[in-house]
Amino acid sequence: MALIVQKYGGSSVADAECIERVAWRIAESYTEGHDMVVVLSAQGDTTDDLIAKANEINEKPSKREMDMLLSTGEQMSVALMAMALEKIGLPVVSLTGWQIGMQTDDNYGSAKIKKVTASRIKTELDRRRIVLVAGFQGVNRYDDITTLGRGGSDTTAVAIAANLNADVCQIFTDVDGVYTSDPRKIQGAHKLDEITYDEMLELASLGAQVLHNRAVEMAKLYAVKLEVLSSFEKKSGTEVKEVTKVEQTKISGVAKDADIARIAIVGVKNEPGIAYKIFRLLAREDINVDIILQSIGRGHELSETKDISFTVARADMDRARELLEENKQSLGYSEISVTDKVAKVSIVGAGMMAASGIAATMFEALYEAKVNIAMISTSEIKVSVLVDESEADRAVQAIHAKFF
Ligand code: ASP
Ligand code: MG
Repeated sequence: MALIVQKYGGSSVADAECIERVAWRIAESYTEGHDMVVVLSAQGDTTDDLIAKANEINEKPSKREMDMLLSTGEQMSVALMAMALEKIGLPVVSLTGWQIGMQTDDNYGSAKIKKVTASRIKTELDRRRIVLVAGFQGVNRYDDITTLGRGGSDTTAVAIAANLNADVCQIFTDVDGVYTSDPRKIQGAHKLDEITYDEMLELASLGAQVLHNRAVEMAKLYAVKLEVLSSFEKKSGTEVKEVTKVEQTKISGVAKDADIARIAIVGVKNEPGIAYKIFRLLAREDINVDIILQSIGRGHELSETKDISFTVARADMDRARELLEENKQSLGYSEISVTDKVAKVSIVGAGMMAASGIAATMFEALYEAKVNIAMISTSEIKVSVLVDESEADRAVQAIHAKFF
């Protein structure tokens, strides 16, 4: 007998048929004798539809009212699922974020969880009821409804699993696990049996949108055993944990992120404080900088000028350009060039820490595929290169073929 927390995503509960299928899966685990807490997302595109509805009425609604609206999607899902389980004849109760004591900060739209009381969940489990919890929502200190940010239901599930000390937190989704690369695009991409929390975090931030980043961070912090599984097929998924068996290949995945832009600041003075001035300017506006490259000085013997290039999220590109142009005088550069026709291709693997030659192998694959590298950055478990966007898929394929 185990305490199992499950989470089903929007596509898994999209319509009546999906809800019924999921209800039978929950029923199966429950009748095996397990205690079941199930977190649900809003059905299908409900959250997007609600946002569209809001914008029809007001293009800039307050964040408080937006959360009030968006939280209804998840509330609908749990009520409908409860009805499906009632029909099967099982004891069940659906609860909102407020009812389970999901306390968050005041940050409407991307609230952080502060504490979960979960006493109601425990009482209901003691009564042998299946507990259905509306994901993605909580309440703040004013008793107002907040939401946790897009994809936040994963985080709800992990927070509850941590609080209840659950045996496992199973995330059911429309893919059957975490893959070495995008299986729809990359030949030979295969499912991983297991992956470390750190690798999963890197892959998630690189655009492998299987799990909400904060959910993985929280799982790592509280050592919650996570599993990613398909809600459509019955087969084993991917386990996310602290340590995995070291795989032969040393890397776990190859990812592409095309949602970035590169900014090059040409001809800044080669003197102390320049990098500080540039990046302070961006940091003040909450613009996150990723890969940074600084050239060595050039000019006469004095090395008068240098260039600094960096990448930002594509959404921040225009704002970053504006800021730099507004401050051209004080920064003292000769020109800036901005492009979004770039992509970041990365390999991720905890095995890299103990192996040498991993980066060289990646560069060899790129050389053979005749893909030019514009920038490189590395961390303990990741090597990223910036390439031309039009060559990115070919780059991923070549690197994947080399390692797997
Ligand atoms: N329904 C929310 C969203 O679409 C939360 C979630 O699905 O996890 O982002
Ligand atoms: Mg999701």
